This record gives sequence, structure tokens and C-alpha cells, in this order.
Amino acid sequence: MTIGEITYHWQEGTDVIHITPEAYQSILSQAQHDAPIESCGYALGSETDDGILITENRPLTNIDHSAEHFSFDPKEQFAAIKYARQQGLKVIGNWHSHPASPSRPSEEDKRLAFDPTALYFILSLAPDVSGAPYVDPGEPVLNAFRIVNGTVTRFPVVIRN
Ligand SMILES: [Zn+2]
Repeated sequence: MTIGEITYHWQEGTDVIHITPEAYQSILSQAQHDAPIESCGYALGSETDDGILITENRPLTNIDHSAEHFSFDPKEQFAAIKYARQQGLKVIGNWHSHPASPSRPSEEDKRLAFDPTALYFILSLAPDVSGAPYVDPGEPVLNAFRIVNGTVTRFPVVIRN
């Protein structure tokens, strides 16, 4: 078992999710700017023969303005979906930040994960080792999760063009 499986009771997925440096930097900058409030957005990209590649962050407002919760603005969600369609991109999933806790779904995150086909990305600004060996210790950690009936599967996120 991996550290993540033991510590966070998730299952390790076999796929690796890729993200471009620009999209990753956009998510990281937004999250750092909004901290200690949780930040959120949509992860846009495409599914190719090589797997999923995230190419764009679509920022959304956390209308809860909370350090422990987030909610989307439905109008912004609608606009983001329309934007993705116009760009020929797919809404692969959504992301939110954990300014002070690890990159793993909280109990509330699990409860509110209604879409079994979506990927839920969580960027932790708090250093943790659960992303090893894909990240350096002390670096922010971005993981992708599928959450189906409370069962969590973790996919590592790798930055590449
Ligand atoms: Zn969360």
C-alpha cells in the first residue's frame, strides 16, 4: 500500500493526468492569491489517446468566501461551460484549493461530489508527502480524484506540455 492509501484511505488509480505548465501556474497563482480563502475553478482540456491533458484553468468565484468551504456561482459555471464549448475544450472537472490541509477530499468534498464522471482536482498549499514520488517535498501538491459513492480514487497530476 502507498502512503496515500494508508493515510487517506484512497485507492491509487492507474492513469496519470497531465497538465500544461501554463494551466498549472494559473491554478497555483490563483490559489496563492486567494489564500487563506479556498479558491476554485474548472479544469478544461481534452481526452486524447495519451490520456487526459488539462490545458486551461477557468477561474470561478468561491461565493462562500470561506477558508474551509467553496461554492460556485451558477452564472459563472454556465458561462464557463459555454466558453469551453466555444474553444473546443472539455470540462474535465473542477478544482479547489486547500490552503492549509492536504490534497485529499474532505468529508464534505466527498458528500458534495455528485458527478461520478468528473475529476475533482485539489491543490494543497500545505506541504505533504501524499503526491510522492511525483512532487518534491514541500512543494504544493495537485492531485486528481474520482469520487463515486464516497469511494475515492487518486490520480497523480504531472506537469508537461
Ligand atoms: Zn476540499
